Amino acid sequence: MSMEAKLLKSICDRSRPIRIMHICGTHERTISRYGLRNVLPKEIEILSGPGCPVCVTPVEDIDIAIALARSGIIITSYGDMLRVPGSSMNLMEARSEGCDIRTVYSIDDAITIAKEHPSRDVVFFAIGFETTAPTNAATLLRKPPKNFSLLTSHRLIPPALLHLLDETNIDAFIAPGHVCAITGIQPYQQFADLGFPIVSAGFEANDVLLSILMLLEQSRLGRPIVENAYPSVVRRKGNLKAQEMMASVFDVADAQWRGLGTIKNSGLKLKNEFADHDAVLVHENVIRSYKKETSYERINVDKCRCADILKGKEEPDHCPLFGTDCTPVTPIGSCMVSQEGMCYNWYQYRNV
Ligand code: SF4
Repeated sequence: MSMEAKLLKSICDRSRPIRIMHICGTHERTISRYGLRNVLPKEIEILSGPGCPVCVTPVEDIDIAIALARSGIIITSYGDMLRVPGSSMNLMEARSEGCDIRTVYSIDDAITIAKEHPSRDVVFFAIGFETTAPTNAATLLRKPPKNFSLLTSHRLIPPALLHLLDETNIDAFIAPGHVCAITGIQPYQQFADLGFPIVSAGFEANDVLLSILMLLEQSRLGRPIVENAYPSVVRRKGNLKAQEMMASVFDVADAQWRGLGTIKNSGLKLKNEFADHDAVLVHENVIRSYKKETSYERINVDKCRCADILKGKEEPDHCPLFGTDCTPVTPIGSCMVSQEGMCYNWYQYRNV
C-alpha cells in the first residue's frame, strides 16, 4: 500500500466534520491535481484561502503600475502579473499600447535592465508574501542603481487569516510551508490560542494528507496546537537572517487585498531610508494624476466571484463565467491567471 493510501485510510478511520482552510496556491495545486477533495470523506471540507500572491494583488496596484508605464517608465514583473486585471486593462494590454513592460524571472533581472538603461527609470513590481520579500530586501541592501525603484505589493499571511475568522466558517488551518520556512511557526501560535488546530505542511500529496490527519487528531483531542509537518524545511523560529533583512528594509503597514479589502498590518512598505527606491514616492506625481482618471469598466467583472473564492466562501464552478467567458487564456478575475489560483486549478484539473 502506498504512503498516500495509508494516510487516506487513517483519515477515513478518524473522519469527522471539519472545515480546513489552506492558504497557499501550491497546496491548492496539489489538492486539485491529485483530486484529493474527491477521495476525502465528504464531511472533510478543504477550503482555499487567500494564498495566491497574484490573486490578492489589488486592482489599485495594477492601475499604478500601468500609470507608471504610460508615463515612460520601464515596468518589470513576473509573467503572471501581466495578465492580472486592473480596473480597465492589464499590463499586457498596456504593453500592446506601446508601454515598455518587461517580464523578468527575478528582481536581479530588473536590476540588470536598470543598469543597461541608466537614463530611464526602471520599476520592479514586487508581489508575494513573506517568501519573496527577503530577496527584495536583500537587493535594496546591496545599493541598487539610482534609476531603480520598487513598487511594493507584499502581503503578510497571518493578519489575513485573522481577518477571515470573522467572515468564514473555519475549523482548522493548513499553514503554508514555504512561508513558515521564513517566519517559523511561531506567528501561527495565535490561531491555536484562539482554538484552531494548525499544521504547517509541505507540498506533495502525502504532505497534505498527513497535515489533514494531524488536524483531525487535534480536533478529536480538543487540544489545538501549532504543529510542523514539514520539518525538513521549516524550523520553529524560521530563517532569522531573512527575517532580519525584511525588518531592515520594510515596515509593516495596513494593506489592501483584492477581494478582502483593507487589512490592518497585513502589508509591507519601504522604510524611509529607502525612499529613493520607493516607486510610490519617487513617482508620486504620476500616481496622483492617474488615480483621478481611474474608472471601473471591464466587461463582466461584476459577475466574477473571486472575492468570495479568496475568502473560502465560494467554489469556482459556481461562478457563471467559469470555463466559458473566463478561462486561463481569457481570465476575467485574478483567480484564473496563475497556476496558484483556485479557478485556474479547478479549470486545469476539472476532470481529475
Ligand atoms: S471563474 Fe473567472 S470570473 Fe469566475 S470567479 Fe474565477 S476568476 Fe472570477
